[in-house]
Amino acid sequence: MTASARTPAAAPIPVQAPAWFISDLHLTPGMPRTLAAFQRVLDRAAQNARALFILGDFFEFWVGDEETASPFAAGVAAALRQLAEAGVPVYLMHGNRDFLLGRRFAAAAGATLLHDPTVIECAGLRVVLSHGDMLCTDDERYMRFRRWTRRGWVQRLFLMLPLSSRLAVARRLRADSEAGRARQLANADAMPPTYGDATPSAVSALLEASNATALVHGHTHRPARHEHDGRVRWVLTDWDLDGRHPRAAALQLDADGFTVLPQTD
Ligand code: MN
Repeated sequence: MTASARTPAAAPIPVQAPAWFISDLHLTPGMPRTLAAFQRVLDRAAQNARALFILGDFFEFWVGDEETASPFAAGVAAALRQLAEAGVPVYLMHGNRDFLLGRRFAAAAGATLLHDPTVIECAGLRVVLSHGDMLCTDDERYMRFRRWTRRGWVQRLFLMLPLSSRLAVARRLRADSEAGRARQLANADAMPPTYGDATPSAVSALLEASNATALVHGHTHRPARHEHDGRVRWVLTDWDLDGRHPRAAALQLDADGFTVLPQTD
């Protein structure tokens, strides 16, 4: 990866506090409790937040903006739009499962699509936001896949396929990735310690390039607060209220700093 790919594109976005950050909801019609928790967090954000950032893998997968017309996606978009129209700006960043989310969905949701990474200024802090997959640089197989799938011409070719073929590809990729995770868990001892996690040197490089004191990202499903040379890295939880280990939270940034707000109730 070149240095420029990691360098935030534009000047920091000024954001009013409190700002809320969520990611990895993996919304899909098959997870109704998770969808309900998402609806609840929007209601709470309308009352308590001044901005909502969704840092990728918002949908379980997304193979093209025609999906915006599906009843499921249209309902999600309408819910986001309601928040945006209530005066709480909504920002969307791509994840590795929904990087084809495009302008049509963003317009329907009243949301602004963000470059990954993006720097914001909020509550006196300069914070860099990322989905987080580009920080997992030790996973060379994935990084190769990522470079290919982010090429404009590869995406244009893929989008020329019929929707049914694209859905079949997405299901196949998801099955591969799930099998990979299962193998990883079974062989935990055999793997290098950073496998599937953010690589410390990539984290330091991003914080450095962004001139930021905090990094917020998702993707790894390892929610935590880490310190790196006096800078802080917050990892967001994934959401799942339909499985055996319910989890959901928003991270808030306001004048008191960062606070985790559980959303499991
Ligand atoms: Mn991800």
